[in-house]
Amino acid sequence: MSFVAEKLRMVEARIRAAALRAGRDPASVRLVAVTKTVPVEFVVEAVGAGAKILGENRVQEALSKMDAMRESGVEWHLIGPLQKNKARLAVGEFSLIHSLESIELAREIDRQAKKKGIVQKALLEINIASEETKHGIRPEDAAGFMKEAAGLENLGIMGIMCVPPIADDPEKSRPYFKEMNRLAAELALEGFEITELSMGMTQDFEVAAEEGATLIRVGTAIFGARN
Ligand SMILES: *Cc1c(COP(=O)(O)O)cnc(C)c1O
Repeated sequence: MSFVAEKLRMVEARIRAAALRAGRDPASVRLVAVTKTVPVEFVVEAVGAGAKILGENRVQEALSKMDAMRESGVEWHLIGPLQKNKARLAVGEFSLIHSLESIELAREIDRQAKKKGIVQKALLEINIASEETKHGIRPEDAAGFMKEAAGLENLGIMGIMCVPPIADDPEKSRPYFKEMNRLAAELALEGFEITELSMGMTQDFEVAAEEGATLIRVGTAIFGARN
């Protein structure tokens, strides 16, 4: 078995174990293999080893990989920030955009999706620790955002996503993941369709699986350190 295949199996097993520890159905947690900066040959290996969803940060890098892997049948997610002027390129190519973070971007995605006759699915990125430097909208503004975006017929907001503060200890992410879970439940109570909770990376993905993540984005633990 290749290095990538072995690592992928290991991450999948750890997610499964974490879900079971928390009394969750392991099938309710899906892995997004983060392939930013990873050469196509290793991405192909991951897909061959069973990766179903690939996550990329940059639209152009993703598009060229998609081109090289047309027949793979894999699902592509955009997990990095999306500039408004790139929305045209991204809409319809990614099955899910994790990084919706402004109403202007929401309107632009909706406009481009309408032109293509599709509904683009996305997640609302939450700046869960309200950090100055972070992308995303503040938790207290999430409901207002959902209300404003509800009129956009070609944009489907399926849930929320976060990148908590970088920490040396995965347990430091737990309170933020709990807060995300609580926010998702609150939004669902208000009548919004919230089915996805995207959280957890190499350093803290088991904690995320325990705390209710439905999508987990892991790069380094599968492909090794990026340059
Ligand atoms: C790079 C990245 C990841 C994966 O990070 P690793 O630490 O390599 O697992 C997950 N989510 C986002 C938004 C990223 O940019």
